[in-house]
Amino acid sequence: MQTQPIRATSYIAGEPVQNNRLLEVKSPYDGRLVGTVTTAGAADVEKAITRALATGTKLTRYERYQILEKTRQLLSEHRKEIADLISAESGLAIREAVYETGRAHDVLMFAAIECLKDDGQIFSCDISPAGKARKIFTLREPLNLGVAITPFNHPLNQVAHKIAPAIAAGCPVILKPSEKTPLTAIRLTELLYEAGLPKNMLSVLLGPTNEVAEPLVKDHRVDIVSFTGSVPVGKHIAAAAGYKKVILELGGNDPVIIMEDADLDKAVLLAAEGAFRNSGQRCTAVKRILIHQKIKDAFVEKFVKKAGEYTCGDPADPETLVGTVIDEAAAICLENMVNKAVAQGARVLLGGRRRGALMEPTVIDDVPRHADIVVHEAFGPLAPILTFKDIDDAIALSNSTAYGLSSGIVTNNMDDALRFVKELKVGTVNINEVPGYRIESSPFGGIKDSGLGIKEGVIEAIKCFTFVKTFSLPW
Ligand code: NAP
Repeated sequence: MQTQPIRATSYIAGEPVQNNRLLEVKSPYDGRLVGTVTTAGAADVEKAITRALATGTKLTRYERYQILEKTRQLLSEHRKEIADLISAESGLAIREAVYETGRAHDVLMFAAIECLKDDGQIFSCDISPAGKARKIFTLREPLNLGVAITPFNHPLNQVAHKIAPAIAAGCPVILKPSEKTPLTAIRLTELLYEAGLPKNMLSVLLGPTNEVAEPLVKDHRVDIVSFTGSVPVGKHIAAAAGYKKVILELGGNDPVIIMEDADLDKAVLLAAEGAFRNSGQRCTAVKRILIHQKIKDAFVEKFVKKAGEYTCGDPADPETLVGTVIDEAAAICLENMVNKAVAQGARVLLGGRRRGALMEPTVIDDVPRHADIVVHEAFGPLAPILTFKDIDDAIALSNSTAYGLSSGIVTNNMDDALRFVKELKVGTVNINEVPGYRIESSPFGGIKDSGLGIKEGVIEAIKCFTFVKTFSLPW
């Protein structure tokens, strides 16, 4: 484990930013100083944009492949160091941090592979009575400049999901990571430079929102803003960005829906993993457990027992399953949501207490449908249980929030499964899996307040950083 505070810096095209304005990053668990970051200001933003636009010679597909593949190798070599860093700055349990390095490894691997594939299409034009002997071809060209803004909850993987596709597309990018977890993002940037990425292709800037993030979002030279984070900030960015592409991956309030025929042990495991992994801080975490009223009592008995296995404590301890949430303010907010639900008639069956930024995995029963904890996103290890009477009721209840990210259904009934696939207003329906199940290359993203329906995931995200050009030839 790292003992001395890290001295990190914002980078403009590989050059460290130099000034005395330091951002301190403290452990959410014990408050120790994990590191400092030299921050950037308005002049640095201008410099980063100018350098990115001066990138010059485009990398070949093979060169992009090599850079991403080399970064994947470097990440594997530095896996322990980076997992320790994720855990130290975010308070996530070390087991989760190690798992996250594996996900980022896959992102780099899939992005590297995509570089080697052609992404064009061919349309023969002699296919209608009015057709001609021509062919239309498509090719993808990189955008001139992207801005990527990332949240705290996956300090490495969220960043990898923006930067690797941008590099695979050949689009220079300026990264603005969360000020709560900047150290991991900066470390990944350093690995990319070490892997041979031309420096102008990537800058990473931390600094005051009004000097860094907002000017980047508004700048007319930026072709795309790719944002992952909360709904209010995402909507603010959508309004501020002006005439450019905007990708929004926003909050979630995902259900696991447990039908009457469900395998109860499977349902218990999926509900617990979905609600408590990553301290409940996944956009696709299970935020609502919706269960058929006839099997609720049997489920609750098993679920409370299972939830008790999710030990909460020191993130650095390999035995800890649930670390802290991102800071004490977030834990207080979660505690208040629980207390408010109780005042509205809910019962806490397990947990409900907080120590500093540690929020206990919490099981809450008899939660009214209008409670804040049901209607809004509770970004932490809370598991509210609600009952439904039949599939119509389950679908209506699931669709009743402003969010539409993902969902998990536990059933062995194919007719019911297909109804959920067709009728849930969400980006993903996973049958007999947690809402968060995906591979890093599959299309991912939400609708309603969770996003504009534009997918990420490595393959779709690469497309986001390009535009399609068509050309036609006589044939
Ligand atoms: P957040 O508060 O919205 O912050 C996200 C990023 O936006 C940070 O880098 C933040 O910078 C920056 N930001 C803040 N104000 C800004 C502004 N006015 N203009 C431009 N950028 C601004 O989100 P968070 O609390 O870090 O992350 C948790 C949220 O992300 C949850 O709602 C979660 O569901 C969502 N999320 C969604 C997905 C998905 O794929 N749908 C995945 C992961 C997380 P500072 O840190 O400097 O404030």
